[in-house]
Amino acid sequence: MKPFSYERADTPGEAAAAAARIPGAKFIAGGTNLLDLMKLEIETPLHLIDVNGLGLDRIEATDDGGMRIGALVSNTDLAADSRIRRDYAVLARALLAGASGQLRNKATTAGNLLQRTRCPYFYDTNLPCNKRQPGSGCAAREGVSRQHAVLGSSDACIATHPSDMAIAMRLLDARVETVQPDGQVRHIPMTDLHRLPGDTPHIEHVLAPGELITAVTLPKPLGGQHFYYKVRDRASYAFALVSVAAVLQPDGNGRIALGGVAHKPWREEAAEADLPRGADIVAERLLADARTTAHNAFKLTLVRRTLGAVLAQARAGA
Ligand SMILES: Cc1cc2nc3c(=O)[nH]c(=O)nc-3n(C[C@H](O)[C@H](O)[C@H](O)COP(=O)(O)OP(=O)(O)OC[C@H]3O[C@@H](n4cnc5c(N)ncnc54)[C@H](O)[C@@H]3O)c2cc1C
Ligand code: SF4
Repeated sequence: MKPFSYERADTPGEAAAAAARIPGAKFIAGGTNLLDLMKLEIETPLHLIDVNGLGLDRIEATDDGGMRIGALVSNTDLAADSRIRRDYAVLARALLAGASGQLRNKATTAGNLLQRTRCPYFYDTNLPCNKRQPGSGCAAREGVSRQHAVLGSSDACIATHPSDMAIAMRLLDARVETVQPDGQVRHIPMTDLHRLPGDTPHIEHVLAPGELITAVTLPKPLGGQHFYYKVRDRASYAFALVSVAAVLQPDGNGRIALGGVAHKPWREEAAEADLPRGADIVAERLLADARTTAHNAFKLTLVRRTLGAVLAQARAGA
């Protein structure tokens, strides 16, 4: 691991200002992703700003009937919150489908959103990767690409975003609240937080240097039945091949978002209008522009069948 300096920030404003002032600085929260990447020297921050003491660990009701989740709320605490379990069950289920109990105890809301891809070639420093080293190439395109993206990918990168929680937050139309180094607060819709890879897969989100996530806000509850189906190679402790988050209403209408298929949570509101017409029609619309490799074409069938299973479960009233 490369040497680095370390400080604990006392306020969000101080943390953001320090991150912008000190070259090579990064925030550290639970450290469950960043420390692994530092040990592999894929991330080499010169300075770490520990944000764990900022008091951003509360889950509060908002005046408009929604919820505000502090950036430092652990995945465990968020999944266990009785209001989240009752009103945003899709979020609690997505959280519990991720990682392991020990990891969820440390993993934070903001860190989970900004965790980096699990593309194996990103972690193998002997092979080219445009995300790790811009311009070096993409080993996954000619390599084993079973886990990789089928939607929104580019010639430069076919990686997926690994977060389960982010899929549910996209479904719920969450907004990310930040403080910038000049103290300004901004609210970013989840749909805009993560970027598609394009020619710059190393730029993964729209946050400015030093911009600190302080909270995620959820609008008022949607009601309906909530589902998070995650298909993976083993029953726990594995990232999604495909996941489907859904909130479905008794009349057959609702929302769906997909995980494991793209560089960001995937939701197309226009396709949701076809939900009462069945899974095949919705899947056909969602996957119309899919681009597969020899290894991951199975994901198209998997999306259709997982969506079919969710809709069947909803009809059965489970
Ligand atoms: C073995 C293993 C299995 C896993 N399985 C799953 C899984 O199935 N599903 C899943 O979703 N996840 C999974 N994870 C990922 C895990 O959920 C993430 O590592 C965790 O959520 C990251 O949160 P953290 O607080 O530890 O982030 P950190 O590692 O501390 O930080 C991650 C990134 O976020 C930035 N950051 C942190 N806080 C802020 C902030 N407030 N503002 C701005 N930037 C910030 C950091 O600078 C860093 O770039 C797994 C991880 C491991 C190690
Ligand atoms: S898919 Fe993206 S992360 Fe994986 S090797 Fe290619 S450029 Fe790197």
